[in-house]
Amino acid sequence: MSSENPIYAEVILPLPLYSTFTYRVPAAMVGGVSAGCRVVVPFGKKKFYTAIVSSITHIAPKGFEVKEIHSVLDDAPILKHPQLKLWEWISQYYLCSIGDVYKAAVPAGLKIESETYVELNGDYEESADNRMSEREAIVAQTLDHNGKMTPVEIGRKTGLQNVEALVARMVEKGIVIVHEKLVERYRVKKETCVRLAVDRNDSEAMHRAFDTVRNSKKQEKLLVAMIDMLNKNQRQGVPLEVTKARLLETTGLTPAILSAVVSKGVLETYSREINRFRYLGTDIGELPVLSAPQKEALSAIHSGFLEKDIMLLHGVTSSGKTEIYIHLIDFILKKGEQALYLVPEIALTTQLTRRLQKVFGNKVVIYHSKFSDNERVDIWKRILNDPSPCVVIGARSSLFLPFSHLGIVIVDEEHESSYKQFDPAPRYNARDCATVLASMHGAKTLLGSATPAVETYYKAKTGRYGLVTLSERYEGVKLPDIMVVDMNEERKRSRLSGPISFPLARLSKEALGKKEQLIFFHNRRGFAPVVLCRQCGFVPKCQNCDVSLTYHRRAGEMVCHYCGATYRLPTICPACKEPSIEVHGYGTERIEDIVEATFKEAKTLRMDLDTTRNKDSYENIITDFSKGNADILVGTQMVTKGLDFDNVSLVGVLNADTLINFPDFRSSERAFNMLEQVAGRAGRRKQRGVVVVQTTQPSHPVIGYLQAHNYLGFYNHELEERRRFNYPPFTRVINIYLKHREEEPLIRASALYAERLRSLLGNRVFGPDEPHVSRIQSLYIRKIMLKVEVEASMVKVKALLRQVYESFMENKEFRSLMVYYDVDPG
Ligand code: ADP
Ligand code: ZN
Repeated sequence: MSSENPIYAEVILPLPLYSTFTYRVPAAMVGGVSAGCRVVVPFGKKKFYTAIVSSITHIAPKGFEVKEIHSVLDDAPILKHPQLKLWEWISQYYLCSIGDVYKAAVPAGLKIESETYVELNGDYEESADNRMSEREAIVAQTLDHNGKMTPVEIGRKTGLQNVEALVARMVEKGIVIVHEKLVERYRVKKETCVRLAVDRNDSEAMHRAFDTVRNSKKQEKLLVAMIDMLNKNQRQGVPLEVTKARLLETTGLTPAILSAVVSKGVLETYSREINRFRYLGTDIGELPVLSAPQKEALSAIHSGFLEKDIMLLHGVTSSGKTEIYIHLIDFILKKGEQALYLVPEIALTTQLTRRLQKVFGNKVVIYHSKFSDNERVDIWKRILNDPSPCVVIGARSSLFLPFSHLGIVIVDEEHESSYKQFDPAPRYNARDCATVLASMHGAKTLLGSATPAVETYYKAKTGRYGLVTLSERYEGVKLPDIMVVDMNEERKRSRLSGPISFPLARLSKEALGKKEQLIFFHNRRGFAPVVLCRQCGFVPKCQNCDVSLTYHRRAGEMVCHYCGATYRLPTICPACKEPSIEVHGYGTERIEDIVEATFKEAKTLRMDLDTTRNKDSYENIITDFSKGNADILVGTQMVTKGLDFDNVSLVGVLNADTLINFPDFRSSERAFNMLEQVAGRAGRRKQRGVVVVQTTQPSHPVIGYLQAHNYLGFYNHELEERRRFNYPPFTRVINIYLKHREEEPLIRASALYAERLRSLLGNRVFGPDEPHVSRIQSLYIRKIMLKVEVEASMVKVKALLRQVYESFMENKEFRSLMVYYDVDPG
């Protein structure tokens, strides 16, 4: 026994725990466990988790009993060194646990968790004082039929409610026993293939094979087709493999015919593992030819990279940033390295994938959260095991893929706030993590935007990043003409009878008459954002959150946009009992109805969270609109981001006020960016487009800079504001959120918490404040803001915050207080 020199593994559990945990490596597994491998370990009461080994050590931990690793899942690590380093960095910088990072980073299909199984207890005997209730008897009967089942399965089979509690009672009575089974969610995808059961080169055997099928025209046809397909594969030098699906499809025959030939011993079927990710197109094309300004920008980026690791490409909308990215990716792939292309919104991957596949064929890999677990595992494994160069297009979670030789990370639309994950932890900004990831690989980062984030532009201006500017649209098309419509003025002149002003309606009709397309941007989903009693002013609110409800007419219910709870629209006011409930205001559903009624000939599509819930719906809407199957696209901010439609000549922003008036320090920046982006959808290809911006604040600075397409003006203005009020990039903001089920203890706790923080951090501490929405999912919320010096070490800040937290939690009264941090809020 090697027990004299035991080996221990430090592991990361997929739980919100700050430290790693030590387990003994059983003698039989020594040598088979290394950093980056998955191991199954017991943790807590009868639970097993898939943990990741972060390191191996000979030093025995002291002061507690060490448990053993249950099993090792991998022969080789599924994570590489840079990934583990990135996880560590994220947990340090964003003040979260490494377990949270693990949970976000690895697709669920790679995490095995224990599941409770219920089984009949063979020793149970019914007696007078231990009888089964009716419900229990149903469960027992079901288990008798089906063997082991999970509580969920029992519920489904029997239709009984609250099965967990029922099972718990049955355990006490000794009717059933429960045990934990490890379940792996990842399923290998298999495909049925067909092969000859006789040797193709043995002409006599082949003769006999044909004789056996001669009596059936169809069976003969199948055999002939099979041989044709094998010959063809051989000629093309591809594997001699014919799938059942393809064989039946090309011959138009049924599975019964195939079975008949199989039963005659001529063909046989077998199943084969396939990788779900397969791009079968072969249209690998040429690189796009760059215009003169694009060429100049590309070479400036190349030479910039000689000195800087991070470059910012500030290029106006439709200047052809994508084309430049494609050239850079090509350069990296030719060097034999991997490229990562981050986009802020899954919706964007559709158009982009097509553009990239035309050039790079099956070197393009797509990865995002709308893929199934199984698909994500397949992609993970491809990146892990296939060393050939590839380009991954993905949303923020693709940062965590097990890259081994990354050459470049491109962050498109780097200013987008959707790069910041807010809930749950890790609350990371994928753009900033991208630069860290790249540096861990010794790779470069290119940030691209028409409206760079103030912080990013500041870093470029002060020399931290390199800067390349592209100020001309491709083929010199002018930036769109911005027409501002003062909605107060419209109302005064009584020209307003809905959300579409007279000038917008007129221009829309003109554009539709010319067979051009339109986009109407409105940043509110649902039918009507206000539900209200006309008599008494009662407003229905969510039971879990401090927000009023939005009426969704298609679904026929009121919805809480914070927790997703739904409610029936009351016909009678619950407060005054009058039948006087009304809905007011406009959401995209209602806009869609109004647009359809106003422009009767036109066909309308809507793109918002509600119409894009499943994986293909984005794609379908975008494809439909690109093909001209619709004339008007109504949508939320999803339509603002880099979509490229060549026939859109007019964009209408129905209510810019909702963007401008958001109460936080980034609201101007966000509004300017969003408006400039959505404006950029107009007039991309042919002639100059028009954007109509409806607002009641036409003299707001954001509107002025937008009208002049003056990014630099806006930046300078905004930077001054930030300097004046001591906001980023001059400080780093950390929001501390405190949550509690009850309001009163929370108020006390947060005041005390802020006081403790002040004693250590002085006037860097602001608050506590009641946030804009002060209760979500039954938890009351308070916010304390820290503004710390940019140069301050996050390790030190973290240590101080931990200290405050720990001393605070010593007070029993505050045990149920939840505290979390949001570093660099988006
Ligand atoms: P951006 O990302 O800067 O908004 P895109 O890269 O989407 O701009 O380019 C805008 C449009 O111009 C796209 O339809 C693109 O195909 C076209 N385009 C840009 N550069 C070129 C080029 N060099 N050759 C052909 N088409 C181009
Ligand atoms: Zn709610």
